[in-house]
Formats: sequence, C-alpha cells, structure tokens
Amino acid sequence: MDLSRFPRRRYTPFATPIELLPNLTKALGGPNIYIKRDDMLGLFPGGNKTRKLEFLVADALAQGADTLITCGAPQSNHCRITLAAAAKEGLKCRFVIEERIPNSYDEDANGNHFMFRLMGVEDITVVPAGSDMLAAMQKVSDDLASQGRRGYIIPGGGSNAIGALGYVACVQEMLAQLFEQALTIDHIIVGSGSSGTHAGMVAGMYGMNAHIPITGIGVSRDPENQEPLVYREVLATAKLLNMHGEPPRELVKTDGGYWRPKYSLPNQRMVEAVQMLAQLEGIPLDPTYTGKIMAGLIGMVRAGAFGKDDNVLFIHTGGMPSLFASPETVLGRVPVTHV
Ligand SMILES: *Cc1c(COP(=O)(O)O)cnc(C)c1O
Repeated sequence: MDLSRFPRRRYTPFATPIELLPNLTKALGGPNIYIKRDDMLGLFPGGNKTRKLEFLVADALAQGADTLITCGAPQSNHCRITLAAAAKEGLKCRFVIEERIPNSYDEDANGNHFMFRLMGVEDITVVPAGSDMLAAMQKVSDDLASQGRRGYIIPGGGSNAIGALGYVACVQEMLAQLFEQALTIDHIIVGSGSSGTHAGMVAGMYGMNAHIPITGIGVSRDPENQEPLVYREVLATAKLLNMHGEPPRELVKTDGGYWRPKYSLPNQRMVEAVQMLAQLEGIPLDPTYTGKIMAGLIGMVRAGAFGKDDNVLFIHTGGMPSLFASPETVLGRVPVTHV
C-alpha cells in the first residue's frame, strides 16, 4: 500500500511509543498488556484526531481553503485538535456543537472548551441533539462563501475515508515498530466511535496482509449499530486505496458493554479504569473515551478472553483535557451508573 501519493501534513515528528504496562499486567494476572501512546501525538495535546487531520488538512490546503469547519459534542477532542491544526496552518476555524445532553454546553467550562477559547475559535454554533450536522456545517460554509472566503468541512470525528488514512498509516508505523521491538501482538483493543480510527486500522491491517485481530470498544453504540458504520468506512477506505479485494465483514468486531448509560456520561467501570491506569502506571485516561475503552479491555481480561501469556495492545487515543472537565467524577466523589 502506497500512502505517499496522498497529500499529508506532519504533526508528530516521531512514532508514538509502544510500551508494556507491567503493573496493570500484574494487577490483572496476565495477559501482557501493552499500550500504543497515541495520546502523545502532536498538536495541543494530541490524540487520534491528529493522525486523521494530517490527511484532512492537507486536502483542505490543496483545495485552497482558508477556514476549517467541523462539529462535535461540547467537550469535543476532535474540535480542539482541528482548531490546533488550523492555528498551526494559519487557517481560521469554526465549530457546530451538538448539545447531545440538554444544557450541557457551558460557556465557562474547563477542559476542551477552555482550549477552544484559548486557541481562538472564530465562531461556535450550538445546535440541539439530533440536528443534521452536515447541513449545519454547510450553512456555515455558505455564509463564509458569501463573504468571499472558502470553508473546508470536516465530518464529525474526522471520520471519512481521507481521515481514516491516518490510521492506515498508524498500522504501517505499528507493524514496523513491532518488527523492531521483536514483539508479537495477539490482539488489539481500540475505541470505536465515529469509526474512522477503528475502520482505518481494519483496512490498514487487511491491506498490509497482517492479521492481528482487532476489537473495537463502542463508546456510543451497541454492535448491531456500530459494526455496519465501521464496515462502511472500511470499504470506503479500501476503495480510496485501490485495494485488491474487499476486506471481509467478519474483520469488524465491537463490544457494546461499556458505553452506557449514554455517550459521554460516566459509569463505575470507567471510573475504576481511569483510577487504575493513573495509580498503577501514571497514565491519564479520559472519562468519555479511553476510560470506557480500557474498562472494556479489563472486562475482557476478567472474562477470560485472552490467554495468560498473550500480548494485548491497547491504543491510547488521547482525550486528556476532558479529564479536567469532570475531576470529581473520576475521583469517585460523584455517584455514577453501574454497568
Ligand atoms: C474521537 C475519539 C475516539 C473515537 O475515535 P473515532 O475515530 O471517532 O471512532 C476515541 N478516543 C478519543 C480520546 C477520541 O477523542
């Protein structure tokens, strides 16, 4: 697979580390748990959206855009990282924010929202849950066009085939690292939300003729809704790459047991996972994504999904700023749902 024919900006000047988590491994009694530190990607501070934006922003620049337009929830990591990329490239940036939980948009919120203001977002449009986000972003783009400007619309989470190339590139990076480190991974655990990360990894793995099984932990949907979404994205990515043959549907597997009661609302297993990683390994997770995704890995270990000597790799997709938006919750001082 040749990614060099796609325009790309580089926002991380190194491969993110793959490390053993010795204390978590010991606490759970095996398998060996490794982590890929995509929370150390570039931009402010980086996460999985940084990889997608390398390709999306390059495409925006190739099209002569002066403004990035994207959307997300009130504490969106994706919006924050898009804004950081815009600042670095000398572009303007506008958001459409979906208030998925009524009244959750708070002008004075900390975390990602604080960073929106610090990095100088040009404009934020807040819309109610269930709004047509593409239409709302198109309206922002039309407004800009009427002023002689040119917007570039990035879908929620940066999840389309171009964005997913970032995780195809991640698979290439990772396989080279595993070879260098003489490490054999038996299973990969990754978050599955707007789906570009999971889909890019599945497409990349297939395209590289590598066969490490991948389980996506759903952060907002059960498998019957999440898997078709991911698979559509896998096919779109394979097509963009002109891949020989279609990746089969069975490559897409997700677990829906960890996201309830609702996207971005806390549960007990997330709090346990955030505390374990912080106290055993000094690694911050976040309450909306990586806390629930790690809870999924821990749940699978406890359910006997892996052999004692297996090597399992967790993809840390970032999200740290939202930790600072709800400190009392992750400290266990607020009652949360048991799932
Ligand atoms: C967006 C996000 C995810 C989910 O990735 P998708 O590509 O949207 O499926 C996981 N973790 C973090 C921290 C995120 O911000």
